[in-house]
Amino acid sequence: MEYPEFPNSEEYTPIQEILQGKAKDSVRIRGWIYRTRSSGKLAFVVVRDSTGIIQCTVSREKVEETDFANARKALIESSILLEGEPVKDDRAPGGWEIRASKFEVFHFAETFPITKDQSDEHLLNNRHLWLRSRNMVAALKIRSTVFKAFRDYWTELDFTEIQSPSFTTSACEGGSTLFNVSIDDENEKSGQKFYAHLSQSWQLYAEATMFGLENIFTLAPSFRAEKSRTRRHLTEFWHAEVESAWLHNHQMMNLEEGMIMHIISSVLSKNRAELEFLGRDISVLENIKAPFDKMKYEEVLDKLNSMGFDLVWGDDFGYKEEKALTQDLKTPLYITNFPKEKGFYHRPDPSDPKSLVCHDLLAPEGYGEIIGGGERVWSPDELVERIREEGLDPESYGWYLDIRKFGSVPHSGFGLGIDRTVSWLCGSDHIKHVIPFPRTMRRTTP
Ligand code: ATP
Ligand code: MN
Repeated sequence: MEYPEFPNSEEYTPIQEILQGKAKDSVRIRGWIYRTRSSGKLAFVVVRDSTGIIQCTVSREKVEETDFANARKALIESSILLEGEPVKDDRAPGGWEIRASKFEVFHFAETFPITKDQSDEHLLNNRHLWLRSRNMVAALKIRSTVFKAFRDYWTELDFTEIQSPSFTTSACEGGSTLFNVSIDDENEKSGQKFYAHLSQSWQLYAEATMFGLENIFTLAPSFRAEKSRTRRHLTEFWHAEVESAWLHNHQMMNLEEGMIMHIISSVLSKNRAELEFLGRDISVLENIKAPFDKMKYEEVLDKLNSMGFDLVWGDDFGYKEEKALTQDLKTPLYITNFPKEKGFYHRPDPSDPKSLVCHDLLAPEGYGEIIGGGERVWSPDELVERIREEGLDPESYGWYLDIRKFGSVPHSGFGLGIDRTVSWLCGSDHIKHVIPFPRTMRRTTP
């Protein structure tokens, strides 16, 4: 396919091209005022667009009088159009500046409510404006690369992208994090309400869809009412999930490893500038090599206890445990064979039935879990037994049990938290810094 030319690409030059020395003698740029100061006859206006920032000097002697007056008057975030000559100047940020011959203010901004050193809370309240910050722009570019890399990797392996519903009545990750939704039916005179949950994972739907397509993936939000406030939990997060028929846990783990390596190399080749801007130590990412180390849950218990924890079989690993385990690691770490209680749909390990044929993948440098996955119980009888064992009611899993009755097969899958992955790759100290509008128990605005 021939792609059309992007509109106006001839007329306006992206700032990055000028900084790379690719521009002609005279350029036009458009963007927003990032910083500004002026003396008697010179205005220094730093302009930003989506690609970078550049210093522009507007001299009273070189532009029309109104242009100069406007350049002095315009506050930060005013939108502007500018024409001038790019000049190499080591004193300017990025090594280039533009000497303006024309300076047009498209829209004069009011006083911008965000200045330096604002509290996190203020930045969250003004998220609709903070999205213009260079930090957010850098993180969101990296995020976009991660989405594309995930899609490309599985599409290349011939997996089909599908969608599952967000309204559901089946829980798969435990009732404590379910969001309930009530729906008024206006046609119902009795004022009857219908109840649903918001999806925690596509898991059960994936298993149904898999029987037709065999190898599938999705990219969608999942919803969990996370009561504990941590730096890695959102109530609405982006979940990249995969399910595959005839595939065993260890095979899925190998494919996942390839996926993580592909995501890392995509970010390294596309987002070096953004990683640098965020202060990320790039060599750490460059040195990640497959295969990743693997430990059984039981071994991890012993290791943690030797580090001073007091854990017994069945305990969950939270942030503290995973941080201790991964903060000195250079590469991601797989943990396998979690205790049976972790989930009713994972298959118990025939060689060690108190544990499951499943895995988590933990990111290094203290980040911890980014993937949870495993092989599913495929026998219908065993599934009913597992549901009962976990104190759940098989009746409420009607259609899910149905799909096992017609030619069941071994199958495996996983869920990758996109936001957590981006947070790790960016070296961010909180997941909220890498999603445009973070949602937590206490924040649904802006
Ligand atoms: P945790 O124990 O850290 O809460 P989990 O075991 O509940 O994670 P899974 O159910 O295995 O997570 O979900 C798969 C992946 O989805 C996780 O590895 C993680 O990357 C991501 N994830 C889960 N819950 C959240 C959340 N609340 N916010 C952001 N990402 C999440
Ligand atoms: Mn959780």
